[in-house]
Amino acid sequence: MAEAVERVLLYEEALAEVLRAAETVPAPAAETLPLLDAAGRVLAAPIVAERDQPPFARSTRDGFAVRSGGLVEAVAEGLRVVGTVRAGEAWTGPALRRGEALEIMTGAPMPEGADAVLMVEHAAVRDGGVLHPEAGRSLRPGENVVPRGAEARAGAELVPAGRVLGAAEVALAASCGYAEVTVHARPQVAILATGDELVELREELGEAQIRNSNSYALAALVGGENGEPLRLPIARDTSDDLRQRIAAGRGADLLLLSGGVSMGKYDLVEDALREAGAEFVFTGTKIQPGRPLVFGRLPVAGGEGWTYFFGLPGNPISTEVCFRLFVTPLLRALAGRTERAPRFAEARLAEGIHGGAKVTRFLPAEIAGDWKGVTVRQVPWQGSGDLAANGRANGFVVLPLGVEEFRAGETVRVLLR
Ligand code: AMP
Ligand code: MG
Repeated sequence: MAEAVERVLLYEEALAEVLRAAETVPAPAAETLPLLDAAGRVLAAPIVAERDQPPFARSTRDGFAVRSGGLVEAVAEGLRVVGTVRAGEAWTGPALRRGEALEIMTGAPMPEGADAVLMVEHAAVRDGGVLHPEAGRSLRPGENVVPRGAEARAGAELVPAGRVLGAAEVALAASCGYAEVTVHARPQVAILATGDELVELREELGEAQIRNSNSYALAALVGGENGEPLRLPIARDTSDDLRQRIAAGRGADLLLLSGGVSMGKYDLVEDALREAGAEFVFTGTKIQPGRPLVFGRLPVAGGEGWTYFFGLPGNPISTEVCFRLFVTPLLRALAGRTERAPRFAEARLAEGIHGGAKVTRFLPAEIAGDWKGVTVRQVPWQGSGDLAANGRANGFVVLPLGVEEFRAGETVRVLLR
């Protein structure tokens, strides 16, 4: 067995390592699904424009299609309204001539000869069909008109592969006639909770026992990132049990373990992984909670390539923080997503908080406010095992290392849930 070498990284360094690993994971398979069944999934093929968008010069207003030049001079005598064109129709009459106007609705194609639309609010029709622009009203050529193909050309890539099919992408796909789309298959993520104290949901609890909540939290987090969670039976804190369960989990696309990575006498996960042939990328991080996190890879049994694993600290808030910061980017890559790193926002501290001299802190926090300003306050907690406090949080406040005190009113980063 190889000698244990510790490698403890700053948050930024650890993230960079995960992102580097993410570059190397194989692209997942593709499957074709009805459009709405694919919502939330990762596109495996781009959404391509079916035709020029708009397919014709389109009026963006209800009003009157006119020739823009000479509109001001037309105030006195007015313009003759020669017809109406509604959305869904095309004007089949002769091209518009000087002195003429065509009543047009939003979304209708522009008639030949016209180059702008006078809004209905800026004109009046009197004397049995004579249009009078309001005094002094002029129009630029092209005003209130989107030219053919200005939004996209036929065949252009509207959404690249690797993006999540959210509501905006569903709208685009629908606008291009995609009844079905091609998305990436979900990577399988094995979840292995370790601990002698753990009891499953329907089992009877002994006094000193606790329920296995991490497997469920992780399954929910995995599901939210387009992974297929596979919950393994709890591994007890013995080398034998860990060996067997790791063997069962290493066939997945990603293996997540929780617990057993600290310095305790029964924290055997790192050794069990090493014994299984693991290479470690890092064995700890300078973050809190989450310091004991380990990341590495196992050779695929009897095949080529590697299965990445994370040994997540057992305390439930550490587990969640490490998932959001480090598992998410790798899982997104395994799911075929091109955007991987978590996105942070900014908020102002509603109250002061202690920072960490040597660790970047990611503390459960309540983020509030509206568009005029977002505030954040730490949720009082009893430490990284306090699931009740975590339940009162809607995100995490980030306190970069090296600063002892963060004062009320300061701007800090937050990670939204
Ligand atoms: P460990 O990392 O194994 O030392 O565990 C740290 C703390 O997290 C201990 O208090 C454990 O009881 C708790 N813990 C470990 N695994 C789980 C789990 N699957 N669900 C809930 N709590 C856990
Ligand atoms: Mg344990």
